[in-house]
Amino acid sequence: METIIARSIFSPATGYIRRGGFDWTCNPYVGCPFGCTYCYAMFLPQNRRPKEDWGRWFQAKVNAVALARRQAPRVAGQAVYLSSVTDPYLPVERSLRLTRGILEVLVPHQPRLLVQTRGPLVVRDLDLLTQFEAVRVHISIPTDSEEVRRRFEPKAPPLEERWQAAEEVRRAGVAVGLCVTPMLPLGDAEGFIQRLVQFAPDVLVVQDFHDSRGGFGADTGAAARRLLAASSWRMEDYRQCVEELRRHREVYEGEAGFFPPPVRAAVPAPPRA
Ligand code: SF4
Repeated sequence: METIIARSIFSPATGYIRRGGFDWTCNPYVGCPFGCTYCYAMFLPQNRRPKEDWGRWFQAKVNAVALARRQAPRVAGQAVYLSSVTDPYLPVERSLRLTRGILEVLVPHQPRLLVQTRGPLVVRDLDLLTQFEAVRVHISIPTDSEEVRRRFEPKAPPLEERWQAAEEVRRAGVAVGLCVTPMLPLGDAEGFIQRLVQFAPDVLVVQDFHDSRGGFGADTGAAARRLLAASSWRMEDYRQCVEELRRHREVYEGEAGFFPPPVRAAVPAPPRA
């Protein structure tokens, strides 16, 4: 891991995040050791390293919390996406506590906060997350198969740990989004659909995973394309899953699922005796 001194910790939202209604993004780290083979972040201009090195390096913004202290008033009440080009709950976050420090600073300023992660470590910060009036935690669970997960995102946390984290987040009273983005090949599509439906997340997001032949998307990584070609997973399989899910509940597709959480309705005061 390298460390860097960043100039800013909140950046104006751009692209689909801006279109979704967010004002700011917040990335305590640069790069991502989870190194998902399909990660769009490796294609962004701020990644100046070779794409094939994605997942082999990352940097920690060691002044992230100090910057947040200075810049938090700017994001008060606005929609913040944490994080757009890294994961805020990397294993190193356990000791560095950058994401935690930023959350501590943000609580008094009450932005509308969306946390996007694959990291079960998010449950450590439930004591802070429950203090936001508008917050949703999105957890990415793109397949039901550990074998598939190990092929496409070998350094990311096991799927069951993510499900457990989703349960804990919900138990704490924080809204949960489940992101099947992109939907990777499934072992038991019917069982996976059932599990998603039974979990009943506040928001369910799905996204297709196909070879866009060089177009920008969640599948543009060469390694991901090779893995996809070697599987029997096809666009029709994805469409069938989405149709089945839609028979049971609301499903957002792609960027439509990434929007800020609403402010929680105030709990009415009990009537006076
Ligand atoms: S966890 Fe997110 S940011 Fe990290 S490599 Fe995977 S998709 Fe990219």
